[in-house]
Amino acid sequence: MRAYKQYIDGAWVGSDRLFDDLDPYRATVVARVPAGTRADAARAVDAAAAAFPAWADLPPAEKQVLFLRAADIVEKRAAEITALLAAETGCASGFAGFQILTAVRLLRQASNWAYLPVGEVIRSDIPGTFALALRRPLGVVAGISPWNGAQVLAWRTVVNPLAYGNTVVLKPSEGAPGTAGLLVAEIMEEAWFPPGVLNVVTHAPGEAVPIADEFFDRPEVRCINFTGSSATGRILAERAGRALKRCVLELGGYNPLIVLADADLDYAVEAAAFAAFFHSGQICMSARKVLVERPVYDVFVDRLAARAQTLRSGDPADPGTLIGPLITPAALDRVARDVDDAVAAGAKVLVGGTADGPCYRPTILADVPAGARIHSEETFGPVLIAQPVSDADEAVAIANSTRYGLSAGIITSDNQRGFALGRRIDAGVVHVNDQTVADEPQLPLGGVKDSGWGRSGPHSVADFTELQWITTREGTGGYPI
Ligand code: ADP
Repeated sequence: MRAYKQYIDGAWVGSDRLFDDLDPYRATVVARVPAGTRADAARAVDAAAAAFPAWADLPPAEKQVLFLRAADIVEKRAAEITALLAAETGCASGFAGFQILTAVRLLRQASNWAYLPVGEVIRSDIPGTFALALRRPLGVVAGISPWNGAQVLAWRTVVNPLAYGNTVVLKPSEGAPGTAGLLVAEIMEEAWFPPGVLNVVTHAPGEAVPIADEFFDRPEVRCINFTGSSATGRILAERAGRALKRCVLELGGYNPLIVLADADLDYAVEAAAFAAFFHSGQICMSARKVLVERPVYDVFVDRLAARAQTLRSGDPADPGTLIGPLITPAALDRVARDVDDAVAAGAKVLVGGTADGPCYRPTILADVPAGARIHSEETFGPVLIAQPVSDADEAVAIANSTRYGLSAGIITSDNQRGFALGRRIDAGVVHVNDQTVADEPQLPLGGVKDSGWGRSGPHSVADFTELQWITTREGTGGYPI
């Protein structure tokens, strides 16, 4: 069992109170974690603010060495990180590998972002005036990270703002304080990032608000960088509005996968199984609904149901396991309740529909009535709704009918047609002849509508810097008074 401490100003800081970080599969204690307080958050903001000027001015070459060293350490510690992800978040080895690879690539790419151009020269109409739009870091960015893609999302929360010269206070989810936070701090310390550049404050379940209060009340904190549910994102956006702070929100989704009649059905089945059931559907980009053109609907759903039955659920520490547990018993209850309610309202279970210990079996529902919650709201579990459509236009209309807009996939063998349809879908990400779950550090992942705003990767420069219009003028005179 690990005994964690918080990471503030380059030092490991304990707490009088600790809470248990639980293994979702075994229900054993993985770690004892400090129940941090608002005072800890205040010290973390102080440290980040103090570290900001030197970090902002550190030459790109020196930043680069640090990010590259961190990437090497993540790679070196991959087996340990995989084991921790399994123990703390129930993550099976396939998704752990994806998270680690993406984190390493992000760190290597971001090592170069300090070299990106920092502005533009813009012509002024005032003779002799030389005008620039200069990108400057914001200051302290407060990161709030979730438990589900604990490693990849924590690294993204930290690396994007740091790369442009901001400093960070990270508040990981109480569901994964180690892999979504303290492990990142350990690795950055090992990579010799200066003290205060990253600070991590942990808190007991249900005690996020006092930490967030400190973020909103402190003028040094210029941006809230959040990945999590749309419900919490809305609360944070309202608070950010009142405090006139920026916020970047990567929120939930209700992601459609469209299967057109011309699709390669073997491929479509594999794509749908992956999109719906990878990491037990606990990914913001997981497919929630598959919209299938009527001529191939029956064959497709039969094959997908058969495929779903082959996905082995169980111990995430076992490399053969594809479907790990849901993160908490409460999450399992929520998924079961959503499925049971839909069934009570007339939905048909094509496969699954029951729990298997702390796991939920891959589930496909058909004939789900429009009133059922699961018909339009994200159920964060391995549950897919299958729905036939008359044509591609109807599929696009249904895809656009939700309040979310994160990711969509269109499986077709006619890429040109798929591309034209994709451009009609209101989502931040659309994959043609591919499914909904993907992440590459250089690509702008993010949502529209209730899925949030802001983009990851190099495009996040707009989120984590501000432009200063700065001029120099040769000559004098010319004012009207
Ligand atoms: P989930 O229910 O999947 O954990 P949340 O959106 O509630 O998703 O959690 C994502 C992150 O937001 C976590 O770090 C959590 O501690 C944090 N969080 C939850 N509620 C609040 C809140 N009211 N203020 C600030 N952070 C919060």
